[in-house]
Amino acid sequence: MSQFSYQDGVLHAEGVSLAAIAAEHGTPTYVYSKAALLGNFASYADACRGRDALVCYAMKANSNLAILDLLARQGAGFDIVSGGELQRVLAAGGDPRKVIFSGVGKSVDEMRLALSHDILCFNVESIPELHRLNDVAGAMGKTARISLRVNPNVDPKTHPYIATGLKASKFGVAFDDALDTYRAAAALPHIDVAGIDCHIGSQLLDDQPLLEALDRLIELIDRLGDEGITLHHLDMGGGIGIDYREAGEAAPVPVGDYLGRVFARIDAWRAERYAGRPIKVIFEPGRSIVGDTGVLLTRVEFIKHGEEKNFCIVDAAMNDMARPALYQAWMDMQPVAQTAAESKTYDIVGPICESGDWLARDRDLAVEAGDLLVMHSAGAYGMTMASNYNTRGRAAEIIVDGATTHVIRRRETPAELYALESLIN
Ligand SMILES: *Cc1c(COP(=O)(O)O)cnc(C)c1O
Repeated sequence: MSQFSYQDGVLHAEGVSLAAIAAEHGTPTYVYSKAALLGNFASYADACRGRDALVCYAMKANSNLAILDLLARQGAGFDIVSGGELQRVLAAGGDPRKVIFSGVGKSVDEMRLALSHDILCFNVESIPELHRLNDVAGAMGKTARISLRVNPNVDPKTHPYIATGLKASKFGVAFDDALDTYRAAAALPHIDVAGIDCHIGSQLLDDQPLLEALDRLIELIDRLGDEGITLHHLDMGGGIGIDYREAGEAAPVPVGDYLGRVFARIDAWRAERYAGRPIKVIFEPGRSIVGDTGVLLTRVEFIKHGEEKNFCIVDAAMNDMARPALYQAWMDMQPVAQTAAESKTYDIVGPICESGDWLARDRDLAVEAGDLLVMHSAGAYGMTMASNYNTRGRAAEIIVDGATTHVIRRRETPAELYALESLIN
């Protein structure tokens, strides 16, 4: 059930009118539903109940401390991609021993920070990274637990910018090189070979490619076992998509169904060939935890009729939500309240001085200047990708909990944007 619904003709987040939020806090503003967030996490947690499994939220999707705190309290671990993200986990009271560290370019400082907090695992993506990690851990008198991110070469059938498991991808170790890389890792004194992982892409509506990737990981675990290298966890990465409500788009696989199929395959394999040995299963969902829990609330500044197109110029822009400009992503935009205006076809654009600054194209809308619109399913890769381009302060963020609103990040002021700069004398 969506936590965003029209009540008396006005769109609400849970029990709070978005018109009231705009009046009190201004626009553009991200508005999240706490119930939606906890519900999404529960889909994973329920499917994992009674199993040796860990859900590590991929926090690059949305890293606000309040969101991390809510998820940490539900038992979530975190998938991080930088030292900065680890500091956010710590600031939010998350447990570093449930953190896994992904990414192709981990720096020495980031490795040190993560080792000093005894994180669960480094997801290593290359041989040079393995050597760097071995050196850093050795100098600290520690051992680094690692998993190799294997590139299973499965086509996830998603946008090329968010496909990450193909042969031409910068991510991971090639499937055919994986055994050699594991052998090299096992020979390093400060490396503890713990697991295997993959992450084949994002916004996957079908779990077939993920299950194919799972089969390939299992094949490697078996081959490693034959050589006496035993793995203790298998990490499926993230990638389950959400419903962006684009006409004709297939519905995403329900999270519970996908996890059920993963566990069924793993159970069958363990019973048949793995002698029932234990293996922890890790998931790294980002979008499917936060994507549909947030909207971007924006106000119409002007209606402009160009020679070929009608433009609806709003106060949110590509600096607030980059997905359309970056991936040509289709995002649903709807009015907060019905108005008497005549319906026309609009491109919804922001005030930024770039032709790429658009949020939605060719949408039929009945709007006039001053009206409020929302962009739905803006909770993932929205605020975390926001920039200050055009010296625009980033949007405020609010979480609604029933009838209560909490400001979880206030709007940035222009003075804050140049506070770190100085003149040369
Ligand atoms: C981005 C990312 C995720 C999360 O992907 P979603 O599609 O948002 O679920 C998980 N793991 C890694 C390594 C990532 O880079």
